[in-house]
Amino acid sequence: MDYDVIVIGGGIGGASLGAILATAGKKVLVLEREKVLAGRMTDISFKGHTINAGGHFLGEPDDIIGKIYEYAGIKLEYTSEIGESPIYRDGKWSLAREFFKMDKEEYKKVIRAINQTSFEELAGYDDVPLRTWLQKHTRDPGTIAMFENICRGEFLMDDWYNFSAGETLIVRKMYFQRWRRPVTALWPTCGLKGTVENLMNVVNTRNGEVITDARVVDLIVENGSVRGVKAVTRANDPGEDYPEPEEFRSNSVVSTVPVWALSDFIPRETVPSSTMERIRFLSRIENRILIMGFYAATNKPVYAMDEKGVHLWDHGERTGCPGYAYLQSAFDPSISPEGENLLVAGGFIDGAYFNPSRNAIEKLLGNFVSEVEDMLPELKDHTLWRNRHLYDYNLASKPGFTGKGRLPNKIPGLENLYLCGDGIQARGVGTDRAARGSLACAEMVLNGPIPFFEGIYRG
Ligand SMILES: Cc1cc2nc3c(=O)[nH]c(=O)nc-3n(C[C@H](O)[C@H](O)[C@H](O)COP(=O)(O)OP(=O)(O)OC[C@H]3O[C@@H](n4cnc5c(N)ncnc54)[C@H](O)[C@@H]3O)c2cc1C
Repeated sequence: MDYDVIVIGGGIGGASLGAILATAGKKVLVLEREKVLAGRMTDISFKGHTINAGGHFLGEPDDIIGKIYEYAGIKLEYTSEIGESPIYRDGKWSLAREFFKMDKEEYKKVIRAINQTSFEELAGYDDVPLRTWLQKHTRDPGTIAMFENICRGEFLMDDWYNFSAGETLIVRKMYFQRWRRPVTALWPTCGLKGTVENLMNVVNTRNGEVITDARVVDLIVENGSVRGVKAVTRANDPGEDYPEPEEFRSNSVVSTVPVWALSDFIPRETVPSSTMERIRFLSRIENRILIMGFYAATNKPVYAMDEKGVHLWDHGERTGCPGYAYLQSAFDPSISPEGENLLVAGGFIDGAYFNPSRNAIEKLLGNFVSEVEDMLPELKDHTLWRNRHLYDYNLASKPGFTGKGRLPNKIPGLENLYLCGDGIQARGVGTDRAARGSLACAEMVLNGPIPFFEGIYRG
């Protein structure tokens, strides 16, 4: 066999997995469809600014990405944590601590309940709304609203009954254990794309290979076991509609692609039809969250109350969507030219209510820009340029779609194939969830736990 392990996908999931396996002595090949690495953590240069085309911060409940770096012999450094969140309601901003008016004793009671409940028991509440669980422990409306607000900002859900208790409480427990607070997020000095590239360098320098512009189109399956992949690479793509794919052979293949990209290469004739149905169901736009938004370069820092706060609102006055805005250049001034600043704003769209027609999207984005300008009026006079977007964020973390509601790391009928990435069964938030899933999958490939990661909850 050419490689010990083939990893499909070059985002943080693929990079984490590749770095762990390469450090454990495996010869790894990473295949990434795009010309650049980092997937939803990539960035682009625009008019002198570095724009994160996807992810914004590292939500690091128990520092899994930092630990993977340490295992691989490199160091992840952060500039600073996010500040206090200003919350917008009824025409004004208030800092979170004033806005929620929590009863401190009630808040502490809830923290104790979370800390005293095991991860496994919390996972049992995956299909229960967070409010139902909270009401068993407190009747304080401020405490309930505060925990729901964190869940909204973290999993980008809108209505209270869509907040999965298990999903958010597991993450809260990790945060309380590691940081002694319910939530935080960090900005890595190397940027988000750099965070992925450093891990890919580990693969490259430890006997492995990372190939970009290599789209996996099929799996090589022999007697029910995966023996490699077929990929269209830059080298074998002469620009035809249907170029001949190249074969890469290995006895272990791990996919880290989003669930909606799986059917591009999983051969439907080799997996049970119920699994194919599940992949198709989870991939439906109704089950996903999208992020609309814009980046705005400004000639003065525009923010309300805290320069490093992630500004949040639960109901945009023109779109009806929850959203956020923050001053990216406050975390890392080097991403913007001298004298300019970069503001990032996003609104969450539940795919169930998404209208994909061009007119509807235009109208939605227009309304979104206006509602953010209503909330941060200085934007109107100080914007130099604006760049609007609409991205796929992730599978919704609603009851029924978390934990066992997602695809498992191994699907029946295909030996030697493993699945991870942030849309597969794993715990955590965004990048953290993807990396944690990679650790779980790496240990499956290695046939046992890696002692260095003892104490980390895999989910
Ligand atoms: C606007 C936005 C804001 C976000 N904010 C945050 C945040 O603040 N904090 C946070 O933690 N997370 C955030 N996220 C989520 C975070 O970016 C993702 O959870 C994370 O990057 C997912 O990593 P991944 O490796 O699982 O998937 P991806 O990054 O999607 O990587 C999968 C890779 O597989 C490749 N691929 C797909 N099909 C094939 C194929 N057939 N062959 C080869 N390669 C293939 C893709 O090109 C991609 O590069 C945000 C996402 C968005 C979109």
